[in-house]
Amino acid sequence: MNLRLLLFVAVLTSLSVGLYAQKNTPALPPSSPDYDLLLKGGHVIDAKNDIDEVYDVAIKDGKIAKVAKDIPASYAVKTVVLKDMYVVPGLIDIHTHVYAGTGERNSYAGDDSVYPDGFTLRGGVTTIVDAGSSGWRNFEDFKDRIIDRSQTRVLAMLNIVGHGMRGAKFEDDTTDMQAEPSAAMAKKYPNVIVGIKTAHYVGPEWIPVEQAVKAGTIANIPVMVDFGARRVERPLYLLLEEKLRPGDIYTHAFSGERGEQDFATGGPGRGMREGRARGIYFDVGHGQASFAWFTAIPLYKAGFAPDSISTDLHIDSMNAGMKDMLNVGDKYLAMGMPLKEVIRDMTWNPAKEIRQTQLGNLSEGAIADVAILSIQHGEFGFDDAYSTYVKSDKKMQDELTIKDGKVVYDLNALTGEPWDQAPSKSVQQAKRWTKLRAQGFGYSHWHPLPGQPTIQDWRPYPFMPSGPNGPQDGRPARK
Ligand SMILES: [Zn+2]
Repeated sequence: MNLRLLLFVAVLTSLSVGLYAQKNTPALPPSSPDYDLLLKGGHVIDAKNDIDEVYDVAIKDGKIAKVAKDIPASYAVKTVVLKDMYVVPGLIDIHTHVYAGTGERNSYAGDDSVYPDGFTLRGGVTTIVDAGSSGWRNFEDFKDRIIDRSQTRVLAMLNIVGHGMRGAKFEDDTTDMQAEPSAAMAKKYPNVIVGIKTAHYVGPEWIPVEQAVKAGTIANIPVMVDFGARRVERPLYLLLEEKLRPGDIYTHAFSGERGEQDFATGGPGRGMREGRARGIYFDVGHGQASFAWFTAIPLYKAGFAPDSISTDLHIDSMNAGMKDMLNVGDKYLAMGMPLKEVIRDMTWNPAKEIRQTQLGNLSEGAIADVAILSIQHGEFGFDDAYSTYVKSDKKMQDELTIKDGKVVYDLNALTGEPWDQAPSKSVQQAKRWTKLRAQGFGYSHWHPLPGQPTIQDWRPYPFMPSGPNGPQDGRPARK
């Protein structure tokens, strides 16, 4: 009897739970598409997976879900058909300055920095590394002001100077170059602080480099060096052959400012050759003053291409010879570097250099940061830091940028809908695939009473002859 009662109660409970669940779970149509976003027919370049051909890329929940030939459009909420376009991982710019907003003049921890979002997503860049604008003393202020509030993924290299890049008075003060507190701050924010930076030092000592390497060793992260003033007391070959560790990064590598070239041939000097053989990475860091055709071309012709392409974005570079990340990449295209290698140097290589290998590739399961590029053909000129140019007949254009699986920039309305047609079904689930406003006309202000038209009751007006069902057809046209 007791057992029967128990059984009866159990059946009742499961029934009511089932009914409750049914009532409170939104019913999905049987053909509910599995993927949020499908990029169809683009030419995929993915250096990590050695892909350089046409593939479809499906995205779900912010991750790359599938890369395959011919994924049906019906499998996705939103499909974007790409014609003559390249699908590449979201670009990674490992040398920028974005510690804006403190109000400090003549300081990269202030007015010399830019806010990231206006310079990144529109150029296909989804991840940037601030290269030492802050040090351990002000990193948390930088994080609060910029890192935590930007749509761009902002990572940081901590300046070995505790105060960061606040000008010569701070940056030449060797007493504020301390490995231990720098390493401690880096360890407090793993995978946000991805390196240690030393820069701009004018003195003859090795203290900045030695403290940076010590901090990098304690925190197990790479060091990036801007070698500052050229001094006979600390020659480049000693930096690259002895002081840095394999995996450390030499930026401004094509400035020609610090003995990068062999005096006789113009090709790579001893330190560059030995450094590369030891596993030092060579980064562009174009900036306002750190990329010279006079250096880059002889080095490229001698087989010395960069490992990573980066901008050194700041207020003095942003409107100068350097325009943006793609512009720096275009310069290597102009020198004859294959597109596949240029893309590799802006995606997978920098991801490896900062040891963030969840980025910079389109493996299934990888973070769905994607740039969709076109190649423009015409007559183009590319200035270096000295207003000397190289001409080229092509340049890259960012068409569509996707971050964490959602559209964040769309230059030519690739994901938009015709204004004079009823919204497609993908608009109803726009939150699955875009950050842009696509909720449907009137959605935000219209709260219909019973009997009044809802947002689903889209109607073409009589003056819309292009309405798919003809003028005055009151029914929604598109399904
Ligand atoms: Zn810099």
